[in-house]
Order: sequence, then C-alpha cells, then structure tokens
Amino acid sequence: MKCPFCGYYEDRVIDSRISRDGSEIRRRRECLGCGKRFTTHELVEEVLPVVVKKDGRRESFDPAKISSGIKKACEKRPISADSIDALVENVKHLCQEFQGKEISSQAIGEAIMQELQKLDGVAYVRFASVYREFRDISDFFDELKDILRKKNVAPNVRKVRRHVPESEA
Ligand SMILES: [Zn+2]
Repeated sequence: MKCPFCGYYEDRVIDSRISRDGSEIRRRRECLGCGKRFTTHELVEEVLPVVVKKDGRRESFDPAKISSGIKKACEKRPISADSIDALVENVKHLCQEFQGKEISSQAIGEAIMQELQKLDGVAYVRFASVYREFRDISDFFDELKDILRKKNVAPNVRKVRRHVPESEA
C-alpha cells in the first residue's frame, strides 16, 4: 500500500477489521517510511485467499455462505445471533490472516468446527456429523444453501478501495 503522506510502499498492518456486512476489510497501517498511520479499506474478495475444494476446483471465499451454514447448524439452539456473528467473524479473521493465496476448504471446515465447539456442543455435533459426510465445507454449504436460498440474498458488493488519512479515520 502506498503511504498517503510520503508515498512509500512498505508498511505494517497494525489492526484488521471486517465490516459488518462482511464485504470490506479495514486495515490500520503504519508506514515504514515516515511512521505515520493510515487506514485502508479493501474488498474482502481481494485479500482473502482463494478456496480450494476437495476436488481441486477453486472458488472465492464467501462469508455469507459460511454465515448461513452456521446459522442452520445452530437452529433451535440457545445461541444468540451476536454469538453466530462473532463466530463467523473469527473464521473470517483466520482466513484473512492466512499467509497464502490459497486455502483448502477443509481448513475452513476445521476452523468452523473449532469455533462451533467452543460455542455450543450440540450445534457442534450436529454440524460435524453432517459435515464429515461431505468432507468438503463448500459442498456442504451448497447443500444447505438449497434449503436457505429463499431467505438469503447475497449483498451487492461495490468496488471500493480508498485511503483515509489518520485524521479522518
Ligand atoms: Zn509514509
């Protein structure tokens, strides 16, 4: 990222946050040239690794798909919407911090199960038993999506990339 103050190209990321609708990552950066801090907004699809399915096919990371899959697994459990949001956020963070251009759908599946286990034992067992038959989190969610497709509409993602200087951040 080019520093908006001095134009230097190297920086370090201090903090990363995903926007509420899951489409954008806000990153606080510190310029390694002049030391000033600035914030960038990047589209999630541009910074998240490509998901490699078990059969080798590639697809983009889809937070909405993960969110709806987890909601389905947590149905009728005493779990608040906020807890589910937080879980999805954690999984997204994990993928976002993943150092690599590609991540296996299996790794995402394992991450989701780990988070779910912390949250609710029953939902975890339910999720794990069905998921293990698929062995591919992406296929599993596709299956769930058929059930949920009437309820969920993918958000309309706008192309946004801008720099916000420290004072306006
Ligand atoms: Zn700078």
